[in-house]
Amino acid sequence: MVIGERMKCSFCNKKSIYFRKYEGHHYCEKHFTKSIEKRVKKTIRKNKLIENGDKIAIAHSGGKDSSNVLFLLNKIFKNNPNINLFVITINEGIKKYRDECLKKSENFCKKLGIERHVFSFKKEVGITVDDLTKKMKTGYCGSCGLLRRYLLNKKARELGATKVATGHNLDDECQSILMNILKGDLLRLVRMGPVPRVVKHKKFVQRIKPLIFIPENESELFAKINKIPFGSKRCPNSIDNPLRGKTRKFLDDLEKSSPGIKYSLYESALKIVPSVKGKFKQGKINYCKNCGEPSSREICKVCELLKNL
Ligand code: SF4
Ligand SMILES: [Zn+2]
Ligand SMILES: [Zn+2]
Repeated sequence: MVIGERMKCSFCNKKSIYFRKYEGHHYCEKHFTKSIEKRVKKTIRKNKLIENGDKIAIAHSGGKDSSNVLFLLNKIFKNNPNINLFVITINEGIKKYRDECLKKSENFCKKLGIERHVFSFKKEVGITVDDLTKKMKTGYCGSCGLLRRYLLNKKARELGATKVATGHNLDDECQSILMNILKGDLLRLVRMGPVPRVVKHKKFVQRIKPLIFIPENESELFAKINKIPFGSKRCPNSIDNPLRGKTRKFLDDLEKSSPGIKYSLYESALKIVPSVKGKFKQGKINYCKNCGEPSSREICKVCELLKNL
């Protein structure tokens, strides 16, 4: 239920459709939309996510967050001749789940008139996630993520992208921060942020996360208000990562009793990251002897995974 019904917007006389508890303001549809756009523009400006001359590959799965990134970047930059946008969609091969998203992605890109490239696990690496779930008892989410990041980087680079925009929201980031701390994975922790600090290498395309300051529930509401089509099914394999589910619930419970706690967690992490970053030395990056993609090992993790299956 949307809190704030029957109340008036704090910025005009219209009916409120949302109460932002951590700010204490009521929002009508128009002012809610404006507030999200303003925050995304501020994130882009403050962190220099997009600059003149950039060619941005938008990673569009067809879910709500990546559809919002596509909608917003298109709205902000479509008339800017110095910024080029296009879409990359990765089809992992998860029947009954991805098909809905892929159709919505195709239709939405057509409607916006934006160039779209689709790459499938099946064609590019010869295996689908449905195959992986049959071959592996657990860990297929890790393998799915690994293959997706690999293909996204490779294809974006081949298509001349200077940056890849993803749909990570505030909840995703907060969950990752806590999970990385709980697992003692500080290397991953220092790689987070609106411009994640991945290892510098000419074959790695810089990632950017324009939605990083938008909570998940607000991302969903934004998509609904603005009639942005998105696939709403949950991947049937998401149970493969129970720690994320528990961390999500923990943070949601905390947010209910202490509104704004996700923001403060994220802001704190962003302040800590620069001071611990120097403690991690960047390993030497070579080229995988098998596929030629950048890797700190002789054979990259993707080639190793495919070989062992
Ligand atoms: S839940 Fe797991 S299998 Fe499903 S898309 Fe996400 S990473 Fe891939
Ligand atoms: Zn209003
Ligand atoms: Zn390789």
